[in-house]
Amino acid sequence: MVPVNDVIYCAYVIFYKLIKDIQKDYHYLRTGDGNKSLKIYHNAELAGYAKKVVQSALDLLFPPVCHICSRHLPPATEMSCLCPSCVAEVRFLASPLCPRCGKGMDQAAGSADRHCQECLTRPPAFDSARSVVYYQPHAKELLHRLKYKSDSSAAMVIAELIGKGPCRQSVSGGDYIIPVPLFVSRLKIRGLNQSLILAKIIFPTEKAKIATDLLVRVKNTTAQSGLSGAERRRNLQAAFEVRESRLVAGKNIWLIDDVFTTGTTVNECAKTLKKCGVASVHVWTFARV
Ligand SMILES: [Zn+2]
Ligand SMILES: [Zn+2]
Repeated sequence: MVPVNDVIYCAYVIFYKLIKDIQKDYHYLRTGDGNKSLKIYHNAELAGYAKKVVQSALDLLFPPVCHICSRHLPPATEMSCLCPSCVAEVRFLASPLCPRCGKGMDQAAGSADRHCQECLTRPPAFDSARSVVYYQPHAKELLHRLKYKSDSSAAMVIAELIGKGPCRQSVSGGDYIIPVPLFVSRLKIRGLNQSLILAKIIFPTEKAKIATDLLVRVKNTTAQSGLSGAERRRNLQAAFEVRESRLVAGKNIWLIDDVFTTGTTVNECAKTLKKCGVASVHVWTFARV
């Protein structure tokens, strides 16, 4: 049995949505193209209202909830699957950034992008790296749900956060999109490569460019977490191989991973690709430590 409070709340949400939609339609009617046939307008209007009624009924039966904290979503939320308090806890990466590795720079020292000390003293093998959010509790939980539970609602939230993040506009072009590969036995155990799912989310119209067999992981490395920088580099030495160099020579590559921690994994991939004549490697990760 649905609690009375919830029914009242849902009725309020539906009423609020309908009033907003009617206001919007009235605005379009007043400012719209006068040459449009009134019949077309009425048909579209009827179809629109039918859809709204169905949606409202579904909302009443299954009230929309936040995909992180499970609280009911208030009307007219900024995001369709996250409540405002969960959105407020997500920290997006934005300028000033290091233009090379994408590290967030101290705002107090100026708002212009500038290279970080690490990139000035020891430039990475990749040409640029960008991430959407900092690797904080909500981002950690979403990636964990995506990686180990194949949770499609986590993928929905990630897609919405990517759309909202300031780095979205910078992702375009390139000849191939390569998700960082997993070792074959790990892929069998896990059943999915989270980087491949992220690649499909970030490049929804360029799925044909996603290549999962050009770069392969030939060494079953131990987990990187808890290792020092030098240990991480040693662990990943000769871990990746390019299947056919001629296919990647002279190409521009987008390399996709879930988290940028120290950048060792994507740097090893970039080194391997560049040894085979790749023109540029641009890294994209959902989160950054
Ligand atoms: Zn929430
Ligand atoms: Zn940097």
